[in-house]
Amino acid sequence: MTQSIAGPEIERLIQLLARLPGLGPRSARRAALHLVKKKDTTLLEPLARVTAEAAANVRLCSVCGNVDTRDPCSVCADTRRDDTVIVVVEDVADLWALERAGATRGRYHVLGGSLSPLDGIGPDDLNIATLIERTRAGGVAEVILAVNATVEGQTTAHYITDQLSGTGVKVTRLAHGVPVGGELDYLDDGTLAAAMKSRTPF
Ligand SMILES: [Zn+2]
Repeated sequence: MTQSIAGPEIERLIQLLARLPGLGPRSARRAALHLVKKKDTTLLEPLARVTAEAAANVRLCSVCGNVDTRDPCSVCADTRRDDTVIVVVEDVADLWALERAGATRGRYHVLGGSLSPLDGIGPDDLNIATLIERTRAGGVAEVILAVNATVEGQTTAHYITDQLSGTGVKVTRLAHGVPVGGELDYLDDGTLAAAMKSRTPF
């Protein structure tokens, strides 16, 4: 254990910051120092306020599993969205990514992870039953499986497809292939093989 060079409040701040994704101990220390130097007006106090507000108000959407400060969430409450399409994602970060890209005007369903028998994560640990319920309730024409191109993501996609068979709902998944602006020579073998397999008419 290294000797502490700051008071316990600052050390605690550094420890918490170091738990954020993408921040190791060194960058957490740098961020904490930046915060305490800007204590009064610009950073630390406003950040403390909005963090407390977020902590008091953040909740899970009871419809789709999204994180927001209201329930139903902003996406579910938006009346301009297409009720006939549900886009299934593993995580809220994926929902945000699709929204940033303006990729769909459909509704969402956040699973909260992916099936992983090795890690003991089964269907009951994910937000799957509510998806099946939503789909069976009627009015849904297509379920788009926007899950990760990993073994777990694909296992999850197969499981959901099985659960929805016989409902008459069209189940689709994202294409796997050459990224926009990508050069073939730089692609990994798996991506290249998947792109060849899922080629489309020109
Ligand atoms: Zn929602």
